[in-house]
Amino acid sequence: MEQTFAYMNNRPPLIDAHNHLGRWLGADGGWVPADLAGGAPGLPWTVPDVGALLELMDGGGIAAIVNLDGRWDAELEANLDRYDRAHPGRFATFCQLDWSLAAQSDDFAAALVASLERSAAAGARGLKVWKTLGLGWRDTRGRLLLPDDERIAPVWEAAADLSLPVLIHTADPPAFFLPFDESNPRWEMLKANPDWSFHGGDYPSFEQLMWSFEALVAAHPRTTFVGAHGVDAEDLPWLTRMLDAYPNLVVDFSYRAEELAADADGARALLLRHADRVLFGTDHFPPEAEAYASWFTLLESTLGLPPHVLDGIYRGNAARVLELELEAAS
Ligand SMILES: [Zn+2]
Repeated sequence: MEQTFAYMNNRPPLIDAHNHLGRWLGADGGWVPADLAGGAPGLPWTVPDVGALLELMDGGGIAAIVNLDGRWDAELEANLDRYDRAHPGRFATFCQLDWSLAAQSDDFAAALVASLERSAAAGARGLKVWKTLGLGWRDTRGRLLLPDDERIAPVWEAAADLSLPVLIHTADPPAFFLPFDESNPRWEMLKANPDWSFHGGDYPSFEQLMWSFEALVAAHPRTTFVGAHGVDAEDLPWLTRMLDAYPNLVVDFSYRAEELAADADGARALLLRHADRVLFGTDHFPPEAEAYASWFTLLESTLGLPPHVLDGIYRGNAARVLELELEAAS
């Protein structure tokens, strides 16, 4: 325990590798659906006051935050101006792609690659892909686009060429794909949020999405993929096998603290085995000190990770994957 306390007083300034600082929430704070194919201008910023955020970061030992909300073109510029350029070293904004183009032309990959190149030139530090790849976006014939679709392979290769890591969220908890009734292990949650269900219709199964995710990571070994939310944090043996098999895969466990705590032995084993492949990320926006504190408790006390493992998860791994300069903050 003494070692833990000593560490807590000397915790290195960390990097939150999964957060949202852009403008895509409705005025009431609710989600704007459908990946916001329209413009974001007019919507409020998730973080109303950047100065207050910097104070929270300085007080809480947060060196830098990854902002996944850069979108593309004018919206990317607005995010870069507000964060990365105004506060060098403290923020890393990721771009996104306009997947709605897939429904407009069979040759959409070239347009997506061009967009990615523009975003990289503007200063985007990575590419964020929402779970709607697999569960929302459709091609010209109305079929859902899956992550490993051959037609979008050029996008992942371009990301590698441009040194942009791809933070990708695939699927959701497995229960969201099971029948929508009282037999569902997350019935209360789904009853309150019926649109979280992906059961029925032409939705792929959870397993199909995991196969598609694995095929994607396997097909593009030059591309670094950050699996959001641990990809399938309810199946740590599966995730361990994935990390064993694919050196181009890293994960963040944002929003999956409960799953890690539920299998503390399994989580500890995975984090020790792949100490250099896990990024700290909260997905808690706007950022709050309490959210960081609860992660510290989980990683340092519940899981009891040793200092050298914590250093990598908190900071070193993200700095390597994102190629971040941290002088300004440390
Ligand atoms: Zn997120």
